[in-house]
Amino acid sequence: AKDAGGNRYELADPDSEARAIDRHSLTNRLPAALERDEFFLEYQPLIRMSDGRVDGAEALVRWKHPVHGRLGPDRFIPLAEHTGLIVPLGRWVLEQAVAQTCAWSDGDPLRVNVNLSPRQLHHPDLVPDTIAVLESAGVEPSSLCLEVTESALIGADEDELKPLWQLAEIGVDIALDDFGTGYSNLANLRKLPATTLKLDRSFTQGLQQHPADPVDLTFVEGIVSLAHALGLAVTVEGVETESQADQLRDLGCDTAQGWYYARPSSPGEFAKDWAPTG
Ligand code: C2E
Ligand code: CA
Ligand code: CA
Ligand code: CA
Repeated sequence: AKDAGGNRYELADPDSEARAIDRHSLTNRLPAALERDEFFLEYQPLIRMSDGRVDGAEALVRWKHPVHGRLGPDRFIPLAEHTGLIVPLGRWVLEQAVAQTCAWSDGDPLRVNVNLSPRQLHHPDLVPDTIAVLESAGVEPSSLCLEVTESALIGADEDELKPLWQLAEIGVDIALDDFGTGYSNLANLRKLPATTLKLDRSFTQGLQQHPADPVDLTFVEGIVSLAHALGLAVTVEGVETESQADQLRDLGCDTAQGWYYARPSSPGEFAKDWAPTG
């Protein structure tokens, strides 16, 4: 019952649906949507593979559109990124997620992961805004992990990476999201303030075949040993079956996320199932 009504958009054909809803009308509606509180967050647990315990939660934004109903982020984040609305929307997500972490942590704080768009990354207010949000909520920087896609960092020079380094220095975790899908320059990893690699779902999918795709197996194995050698943790996305979970644990992955453990759910549902004090 937990997922009743959840993730419906993921079952639909995104292309035909995207055509059906005019991108322009969605784009134009975005600022009002933020004003009118039409966005909301769901949380999906990150599971420590060694003992199956919850190690944090990823905040995922959704839009309750007054006409079209529930829309997933793939439908509006690119539009918000394009117009720049992602900056105030991203700040709203950060505030909400950090506040939620507080509400959950009655003792041991639960880590929360928040996705950052390239536009936020390059906005001059990122560092002061993030610090302000953490301070006003009284949350330790180490309770926050910012997820940045690898592709957002490609070609970034030292100056452009400075804000991320500043956040890392005060203790914010940085995860490289969708890792392995871009033109990964492994040598570049050392120049990034990342603490975690989030292996893209496509690798997890390769392990579902019988036998598992040998290239995916080798790739995951190689990435895990490289990451660990560099002091980075490895999170795997899109774990849908026990078999995938078992293989990924055996391959040395540290943390996992996926429907096998839980779908994204409302803060209330999440707290009931996963929060430390339940
Ligand atoms: P992502 O950061 O890679 O997030 C993981 C996506 O995989 C989520 O889709 C999640 O619901 C989905 N997922 C989780 N477990 C499974 C599984 O076992 N199988 C499958 N097939 N999918 C799974 P969602 O919520 O639709 O988000 C899509 C993307 O939208 C995210 O991908 C992220 O790039 C972006 N996004 C979501 N929330 C935010 C946000 O607050 N800010 C920004 N900038 N981007 C966001
Ligand atoms: Ca993410
Ligand atoms: Ca991802
Ligand atoms: Ca993704």
